[in-house]
Amino acid sequence: MKSKPTGPIPAGFTAIDGELAIGGKPVTQIVEDAGRTPLFVYSRDRLDQRVAQLRAAMPQRIGINYAVKANPHPDVIAHMAPLVDGFDIASSGELARVLKQGVDAARVSFAGPGKRDDELEAAIAAGATLNCESEGEAQRSLAIARRLEKRARIAIRVNPSFELKGSGMKMGGGAKPFGVDAERVPELARHIIANGAEYRGLHVFTGSQALSAEAIIEAQANVLALAEELTEQIGAPLPKLNMGGGFGIPYFPGDEPLDIAAVGAALADRVANLPQALSDTELCIELGRYLVGEAGVYLCRVIDRKVSHGTVFLVTDGGLHHQLAASGNFGTVVRRNYPVAIATRFDADPDEVVNLVGCLCTPLDRLGDAVLLPSAEPGDLVAVFCAGAYGASASPADFLGHGAAAELVV
Ligand SMILES: *Cc1c(COP(=O)(O)O)cnc(C)c1O
Repeated sequence: MKSKPTGPIPAGFTAIDGELAIGGKPVTQIVEDAGRTPLFVYSRDRLDQRVAQLRAAMPQRIGINYAVKANPHPDVIAHMAPLVDGFDIASSGELARVLKQGVDAARVSFAGPGKRDDELEAAIAAGATLNCESEGEAQRSLAIARRLEKRARIAIRVNPSFELKGSGMKMGGGAKPFGVDAERVPELARHIIANGAEYRGLHVFTGSQALSAEAIIEAQANVLALAEELTEQIGAPLPKLNMGGGFGIPYFPGDEPLDIAAVGAALADRVANLPQALSDTELCIELGRYLVGEAGVYLCRVIDRKVSHGTVFLVTDGGLHHQLAASGNFGTVVRRNYPVAIATRFDADPDEVVNLVGCLCTPLDRLGDAVLLPSAEPGDLVAVFCAGAYGASASPADFLGHGAAAELVV
């Protein structure tokens, strides 16, 4: 069988005694500590390194927010808390998670369509900023704040007329459930201010998973120009601008890492020449997968090795119920292989083309299609890389009743 390529294993993963090591520990030891597979392992070292590299590339003026939906594990939130400036959440469940880790609500902003009244109330009571997605949501927020005798902190999420080019998921431009159409933002901002809320500024999120520096540079320039125009129309100072993010990571064959030095240099240039309307504005970007995606590895164990019509299948105890994206069923049109390895034979030469599958009784449950790997046996551990974002929390863990994977921060 002819092999199909896999995505690039993130740089810096090495072997100890022939095994993949994460955070300086070989995988068999990590699995022993955890007590079971399947297991998500998130590396503190890699989280630290990623934030440090990003800080070095970005101008100092730019705050870095962590978008919690990428990985809401309590230990990941706790680890990120001193590393980032703010937290972007998208539900009251995420609000509870960040507050439980001792994050000051003043650092938290809450975006996302369909916020219920109880969610608005929890955020207002805690003192988090609401990134309002519609006029109706703003009205409900103002009414709830009046009832609570609290001052709501409200920013407006703008639905811009442009989008982040080459983005994996488009979230701006045209008719969208996200944000308030740009031309209606000034009136809403003035209404919020007139009704006694603390106006916290604007939020423009244009897309996700972009690997092109030019596309991100262009989107950021557009966001700054839009914020300037809206601020002039609003006629009040802009306290804060959340410029969105969209920084991607390589998942698939041929993907190249985003050139953050280029993004940072272009942004430094813009920041040094900000228009008057934005001269005192606090600026930030919000990133999920870029911060945590490559720090995570999903480990599962080979349960069975079988041959069907000449094709070798390695059947694992993992699958799409934990790693929906790697199976190709989360926002992809054509299924391609994530970076994978036989973790217990990490430095062995590949000599066999196999299909890596999960344990679910559905043909959708594929972790690797025709991948060239060192030949493996039941008991070996399989690693699926780029598992730190949209893995455990973005997969249907109850599907077929196998239950959730373990998660461990090392
Ligand atoms: C999902 C989301 C993010 C995070 O996206 P990543 O691709 O993980 O960086 C940031 N902001 C908003 C508003 C989002 O919906």
